Amino acid sequence: MRKITSAEKLVLASHNQGKLREIEALLRPHGVDVVSAGTLGLPEPVEDAPDFAGNARIKALAAATATGLPALSDDSGFCVAALNGDPGVLSARWAGETKDFGAAMALVHERMGETTDKRAWFVAALCLAWPDGHTETFLGRIDGVVVWPPRGGKGFGYDPMFQADGASVTFGEMDPAEKHAISHRARAFAQVLAACFG
Ligand code: IMP
Repeated sequence: MRKITSAEKLVLASHNQGKLREIEALLRPHGVDVVSAGTLGLPEPVEDAPDFAGNARIKALAAATATGLPALSDDSGFCVAALNGDPGVLSARWAGETKDFGAAMALVHERMGETTDKRAWFVAALCLAWPDGHTETFLGRIDGVVVWPPRGGKGFGYDPMFQADGASVTFGEMDPAEKHAISHRARAFAQVLAACFG
């Protein structure tokens, strides 16, 4: 397993402000020097893999080869059991060009119809890529239920319509630190840290 040394700058291969905020918060205690793909003016590659891990690899490799620096990407999404795992890898696309997640959540609700199966989960694939093409990928998942109507304005994306098993508030109502303690991203991140840092 290859390691990131504290002397290396790490590119965060994401243009999503919500994800960047969360990944920066997760990395902060580890003293890693980070720069985002947006700050470097890197283009967003086409994400055409059929799964989260494949898309995470595409994004991390594109950033690592363009910059000559190791890069960390996140590909994640919201999956609903009654919709056979949709919106899944299309989670961002369901929000359309204008990134309207109110509309995306309404679409999930509409497609679920009258079903009583409210099970849902978030998945995050984090990929570390190096300029020579080496990659390491880690998956995290959190299970819960769909909530309607959506509640809370603290998170991003589908957070207001998801309540984790064992929680009494949605991700949209949780303080960031509370979400970071249990989220799909934090779970994948814990594996990245254990395997590739220090
Ligand atoms: P992508 O990984 O850039 O293709 O986008 C993933 C999409 O999934 C995001 O735009 C969000 O809509 C959704 N998503 C991923 N992680 C979260 C999360 O922690 N909370 C809410 N929505 C999320």
